[in-house]
Amino acid sequence: MAKKEFKAESKRLLDLMINSIYTHKEIFLRELISNSSDAIDKIYYKALTDDNLKFNKDDYYIKITPDKENRTLTVLDTGIGMTKEELEENLGTIAKSGSFDFKKMNQLKDGYDIIGQFGVGFYSAFMVADTITVMTRPLGSDEGYKWESKGAEGYTIESYDKEYVGTEIILKLKENTEDENYDEYLDEYKIQNIIKKYSDFVRYPIKMDVTKHKPKEDNEEEFEEYVEEKTINSMVPIWRKNKNELTKEDYEKFYADKHYGFDKPVKHIHMKAEGMVRFNSILYIPENIPFDYYTQEYEKGLELYSSGVLIMNKCAELLPDYFSFIKGMVDSEDLSLNISREMLQHDRQLKLIAKNIKKKVKSELLSLLKNEREKYEKFYESFGRQLKYGVYSDFGQNKETLQDLLMFYSSKEKKLVTLDEYVSRMPEEQKYIYYATGDSIDKIEKLPQTELVLDKGYEILYFTDDVDEFAIKMIMKYKDKEFKSVSSGDLGIEPEENENEPKEENSKLFENMKDILSNKVKEVRASKRLKNHPVCLANDGEVSIEMEKVLSAMPN
Ligand code: ADP
Ligand code: MG
Repeated sequence: MAKKEFKAESKRLLDLMINSIYTHKEIFLRELISNSSDAIDKIYYKALTDDNLKFNKDDYYIKITPDKENRTLTVLDTGIGMTKEELEENLGTIAKSGSFDFKKMNQLKDGYDIIGQFGVGFYSAFMVADTITVMTRPLGSDEGYKWESKGAEGYTIESYDKEYVGTEIILKLKENTEDENYDEYLDEYKIQNIIKKYSDFVRYPIKMDVTKHKPKEDNEEEFEEYVEEKTINSMVPIWRKNKNELTKEDYEKFYADKHYGFDKPVKHIHMKAEGMVRFNSILYIPENIPFDYYTQEYEKGLELYSSGVLIMNKCAELLPDYFSFIKGMVDSEDLSLNISREMLQHDRQLKLIAKNIKKKVKSELLSLLKNEREKYEKFYESFGRQLKYGVYSDFGQNKETLQDLLMFYSSKEKKLVTLDEYVSRMPEEQKYIYYATGDSIDKIEKLPQTELVLDKGYEILYFTDDVDEFAIKMIMKYKDKEFKSVSSGDLGIEPEENENEPKEENSKLFENMKDILSNKVKEVRASKRLKNHPVCLANDGEVSIEMEKVLSAMPN
């Protein structure tokens, strides 16, 4: 039997493949399972147009079999199989995708999401195997073939008597080295984990014989082993189901299963987009702050699936920083992937998806604020600061998006209120939105500067977060009303006549006071705004006293 060499460039490409394209060796199993799933899909599509072909779902599956003794791992499928020519073409030429051709030839359009397209996935198996043997029998033929290769040197093809249509791929695993343990791919538990992680939503059952234990019949104290065939994947992803088939508990279970958090989410968002870009997404607004949330370590991002196959754990591009608390996943058939799948080829579709998600999250937060105030407050307690950072950062370009989501403590309501609520309560003659800054609500309430404004019956927003005033400065105006710190010189309030009129004879006293304060103040003057307090600090410029404190505490 003659050995055939891989076509010219293929040798170098194969080397590249095995050594550098994929970051995790374990993804070889995802690639082989994806191919098997594609192969079954192909029969399914053929059956749609061919009346002689019946597609009975139970006949189609993928089976994984580890064999510890022989150190082999087998991936079997009941898919469409390959003819001799297809074996030569598809497995003999790297970067040749039979699946891509199939899609083109059959002009498959929307909804037909065959995964393969690059013609390299198969070779990723050489990351873990010395020898790969493929036994296959194509649909509509009695003849089977056996293809075998030890990597770069080439491959052989011979006839092979295969009982059923489909493909069986045997990997002879590499010997363990100091850094690499290949035996783990024979471990039932490990294999199940890899399947769950990457291929949980492949639509056909991925079966495996798993070892179980039960009490012995004659002696309940002892256990005996038995083997049972088990379907490892959950097949139908929750995000493809209809919203009305799903309960709150289903979503909460998915949240927990996916380890998005240990809390119960405040709200879930289930999106199905059909427009410029098709995608399904399940997003969660968590209740609790992840322990590392306000640190550098926290990594934002959503899980990204391409046609049900996980390609990225945390895709950061899908979320703006100010919504970095959102957890969840996106599945799209419209992504153009780079050959390694972990890398996206270009991000036009991704940007569209991100834009949709941003809009949706905003509107869901607004509706939470409007309809489920308590829940929103709980959320805001955890993540309000992030929203305020969002207003302040990026030169304020997101203030429009975010300003209606902000809340501050109100002197009048004694609870958090929105800017909209504040403005709608303003008496007609009130010119500004007043705020006071301090370490705590208690301390702010004692500030002499608040006196005049409160006496007037005006509401004051209390800023206790460092970022509050910075965010407000960025917004500048809300519904045409400017923000004004109660410590600023001109409050825009006409004081009532009182006897504290600055008098000539005080000027000497004020000079002396300024000297005693060793010029730490610019000026000492009589104030018209105080009633119950003897003295207060005021500032003239744009930067308030509190902001000055924050600024001077910042590293230069
Ligand atoms: P891709 O899946 O991107 O096309 P692969 O290298 O994974 O590239 O596979 C190359 C081609 O080999 C596939 O397009 C398909 O035509 C064929 N192939 C691989 N595995 C199977 C299989 N289990 N059954 C049928 N055909 C297969
Ligand atoms: Mg493939």
